[in-house]
Amino acid sequence: MNPTLAPVTSASLIRGEVAGLPGYDPGADPDDVAALSGAAHVIKLSNNENPYGASPAVTEAVRAGLAGGVSRYPDPTGKRLAETIGASLGVPAERVVLGNGSENILELLCQAVVDPGDLVVTQAPGFSLHETFPRVMGARVHKVPVAAEFGFDADAWRDALAVGPKLVFLANPCNPTGAMLTVGELERVVAATPESALLVLDEAYGEFARADPEYPDGLEALRALDRPWIVLRTFSKAYGLAGFRVGYGIASDTALIQALDRVRTPYNVNRPAQDAAVAALGDQAHLAETVRRTALEIARVTDRLRGAGLRVVPSSTNFLFIDTGRSSDRVARELHRAGIIVKAWREPGYETYIRASLSTPEDNDVFVGCLTEICTKDMT
Ligand SMILES: *Cc1c(COP(=O)(O)O)cnc(C)c1O
Repeated sequence: MNPTLAPVTSASLIRGEVAGLPGYDPGADPDDVAALSGAAHVIKLSNNENPYGASPAVTEAVRAGLAGGVSRYPDPTGKRLAETIGASLGVPAERVVLGNGSENILELLCQAVVDPGDLVVTQAPGFSLHETFPRVMGARVHKVPVAAEFGFDADAWRDALAVGPKLVFLANPCNPTGAMLTVGELERVVAATPESALLVLDEAYGEFARADPEYPDGLEALRALDRPWIVLRTFSKAYGLAGFRVGYGIASDTALIQALDRVRTPYNVNRPAQDAAVAALGDQAHLAETVRRTALEIARVTDRLRGAGLRVVPSSTNFLFIDTGRSSDRVARELHRAGIIVKAWREPGYETYIRASLSTPEDNDVFVGCLTEICTKDMT
């Protein structure tokens, strides 16, 4: 053995694009926080989940499906779910793609569309995977900053889109700010997006915003357009199925769906997840109740935090982006000690912000109490 050679490890095999990526930050582990705080009930506000749970019809459908055994692969096309989605939206099932979460579809889109060196445009602050997946493919990612007060900067978007991106990731409403683009603002983005780019509208929180007449339904806004687009939605948030991992996309044309089918792992959505999603779609009353209760809590908690002097971005979602005025990492650690998990934001310029999805009114009161205490005690 030559002692001057460095030891061989797998590190030398890793592609440069991958080696340079930050890991995904899922937030603190609930078991760790339970151990640290001694809390019997950890309040998890870090992943924008539904605190009220899924429709009872979901459990029933999954149980019935499991009774048939689990030894067979699921339907690789998710026919029944794709047809249910298509029928509810007036779109042929051939233009619906299913994903192991809509994150899976973000990844497939990058694999199918992005060449090394391509430009991808998205938002800042934004959803980390809108940047990570393009970078895995060797893309350059330009993040368009928000305007003052977290508004939409139409000029900055127009300039970024004029450079000629291959792919545009736009979340509406936006994660982490909770802000939404209005009908007019979305129209401006669409008009400025070159037809040589794929426009991806990520509506993970659309169900929460839909009651607002200013909120544009992405599918309605895009469906008549003769250009490439895809609208992504998920069962993880308002439908309360995060544990099953199922999301979907509605595309401008079948050629895009066929490309995604070529790159995706063939059985990407498991059978219980397909059954769960069909059942969840069938219980729109449960969805409406989740949305109603969430909106009440968003309004109530926003008022209370603002009353305590904190800056809170107006939210069209189930989470709040809150300026704590101090290191968000420190605030998050103090909350952990009280058995509460939020996401400390780390994007440059937002290191004093936390993102907290809301829970039940009781949990939210505990959160408001702890946060205001942390944020007032060292102010004097
Ligand atoms: C949560 C989220 C998703 C998708 O989550 P899945 O669980 O993978 O469906 C997609 N986009 C944004 C912006 C999100 O916040």
